[in-house]
Amino acid sequence: MRTLVYSIHGFDKPFLEMAANDKHELAFTKEPLNENTADLAKGYEAVVLFTSDRGTAQALEKQAAHGIKYLALRSAGFDHVDLAKAKELGMKVAYVPSYSPYAIAEHAVALMLALNRKLILGQELMNQNNFILDQLVGFDLHGKTVGIVGTGKIGGAYTRIMHGFGCKLLGYDIEQDQELIEDTNISYTSLERLCEQSDVISVNCPLNVCTKHMFNKEIFSKMKKGVMFINTARGGVVNTNDLIDALDNGIIAFAGLDVYEYEKPIFFYDHSGKALEDRLFEKLRSYPNVLITGHQAFLTNEALKGIASTTIANLDAWERNEISENEL
Ligand code: NAD
Repeated sequence: MRTLVYSIHGFDKPFLEMAANDKHELAFTKEPLNENTADLAKGYEAVVLFTSDRGTAQALEKQAAHGIKYLALRSAGFDHVDLAKAKELGMKVAYVPSYSPYAIAEHAVALMLALNRKLILGQELMNQNNFILDQLVGFDLHGKTVGIVGTGKIGGAYTRIMHGFGCKLLGYDIEQDQELIEDTNISYTSLERLCEQSDVISVNCPLNVCTKHMFNKEIFSKMKKGVMFINTARGGVVNTNDLIDALDNGIIAFAGLDVYEYEKPIFFYDHSGKALEDRLFEKLRSYPNVLITGHQAFLTNEALKGIASTTIANLDAWERNEISENEL
């Protein structure tokens, strides 16, 4: 199957090449999919898309006109593709529902620990030969209440890690996971109660019409003053302006963010030497108590291998004229 891989990066190309078998003629472009780059797929049957691509209605219409029938998403999230339009155009879309939930859960923990134990500041002071510890006081996680919003594969893996830390666990989800309750003693509650009681809140739900700006002025106002807020899910789940207000008024004492609402033109590219034309992002990264990583929570060898093998398995199924088990 002639396949064009959009938004290829140095970190995932070797994994895709290794997973591809001779049924798939993979071509690569660094360009992200959008209305202006949709025509690059002329002559291909399938495209492989990343979270930084924009599978808008207009982009998909152009691709369908070129005969593209298959969209293989190399991600667990699928909020970047207009699924209704793809269906209307008769295009099949598959994703990677599970690769390594541990990669993202462990990154959420890395953000928590780095913020709490002030590892970045500690390193900076150390490099200045300053060994005074006064600015580096943290808190024990043991015994603290951690709220998990979305207790699916990633939220579940994170819950199990925090259970190991000796935390009290509160969950909010539209579905309760009985096994997780038995394993970790997590108590499901409303989002409001979770916010009122948690010392740390981790966001692990998908971005969709129900969760867009779920974290807004109103919900931030319910949180304990001094809470730590971690988001490794999707930037759009949080109203960034309201997050900035919550940082300014001290409700949020620490924010660990792997995702940002308007990340698409920024993340995954080298902007060295250029000014970023995003004042909201500049403001966000100016806080010493905000730690931002550029959507790298998934970036482990195990996760990249899993993403590549499932992506190729989805193409394999279509090559055999079968339905992929990961179709959306
Ligand atoms: P999952 O489907 O296993 O779990 C999502 C959970 O959220 C489910 O339990 C679901 O019931 C719950 N949920 C759905 N709607 C909800 C709502 N309105 N309120 C509360 N809970 C709700 O998915 P997952 O594999 O755990 O991934 C979760 C999200 O993490 C993905 O959708 C993706 O956006 C994000 N993600 C980020 C990275 C990264 O690198 N930062 C990597 C992979 C996934």
